Amino acid sequence: MEKVVIVGGGPAGLTASIYLSRYKVEHTLFAPEVGGFMNETHKIENYPGFISISGFELSQKMGEHAKSLGVNLENKEIEKIEKIEGGFKISDFNGGEYFAENVIYAVGTISNKLGVPGEKELKGKGVSYCATCDGPFFKNKEAVVVGGGNSAAVAVFILAEHANKVTLIHRGDLPTCEPSYIEEMKTNKKIHLIPNANVKEIKGENNVEKVVLDVEVEGSNEYKTDGVFIEIGSGPNTTLIKDLGVELNERGYVKVKADQMTNVENFYAVGDISTNSNGFRQIITAGAEGAIAAIAIFEKNKKKQ
Ligand SMILES: Cc1cc2nc3c(=O)[nH]c(=O)nc-3n(C[C@H](O)[C@H](O)[C@H](O)COP(=O)(O)OP(=O)(O)OC[C@H]3O[C@@H](n4cnc5c(N)ncnc54)[C@H](O)[C@@H]3O)c2cc1C
Repeated sequence: MEKVVIVGGGPAGLTASIYLSRYKVEHTLFAPEVGGFMNETHKIENYPGFISISGFELSQKMGEHAKSLGVNLENKEIEKIEKIEGGFKISDFNGGEYFAENVIYAVGTISNKLGVPGEKELKGKGVSYCATCDGPFFKNKEAVVVGGGNSAAVAVFILAEHANKVTLIHRGDLPTCEPSYIEEMKTNKKIHLIPNANVKEIKGENNVEKVVLDVEVEGSNEYKTDGVFIEIGSGPNTTLIKDLGVELNERGYVKVKADQMTNVENFYAVGDISTNSNGFRQIITAGAEGAIAAIAIFEKNKKKQ
């Protein structure tokens, strides 16, 4: 049985790995990709040491750092984590089974879905949850962004760099993002706003062709577009651990103690998924929580020896 399995390769999981490697604690990190949400971030301008860096570049740097210290990285997506005698059984989607004394759960959050007809069917065919990843495909095209918060505003600006026209569809009279973003949107001729509106359906034969709204725009409730970017927030990713008995808060985030351990012995949760860092979900706080869990495991081991 391995000492530690880390599930998740975002800043939380990668930092946990860096600390475990330096403290010579054997571990394996499972993640379908390295970097997590950082890959979806256009520019990062609040991570110390980098005045401005693209999210992808920071991901690569963190990944290289972890690899340089010898992390055993498995590009696999985990399906389930179960409690067994003396530890945990971790299963991947291809029938692989792994065993560990400790688990560091660092899977972050997942994008909320609109839940309207056409969303699932046209995902990857114009429906997207990541403007940084898919924005470049919209050169000379038209796109809509659904949502009103800061993520939606950032998606609008990213898309406006590529598309001819970007329309933000939001509830209320004004988007809820920072007022400076609203000002910036108003000065960009490519950007249009449809207030007090909800998307009821996404339509298209093979690719997205239009959205159906609950309001009329220029006499029609159908609005033509080549793509729909859904930016309506995200929630904790706890499906893998639903049978573990891990305590969650009222919003579904994993409750942890100061050392990042959950109510389940030797099961740690770090980063965006956890309730620590005063709920402030950022790269620096995710990394800090990963480091705290790693050191807690190291100290616990030392006492046992
Ligand atoms: C658009 C946007 C802009 C942002 N801008 C900033 C910013 O400027 N500055 C800042 O500090 N923060 C920013 N953030 C927040 C920051 O990205 C997150 O707080 C941080 O990435 C959380 O790290 P994490 O490691 O907890 O989770 P994540 O980064 O979400 O990583 C989760 C990891 O878990 C993996 N995973 C998920 N499910 C499984 C599974 N079943 N099996 C195996 N692996 C799995 C994923 O593939 C991924 O590797 C931004 C976020 C977004 C969405």
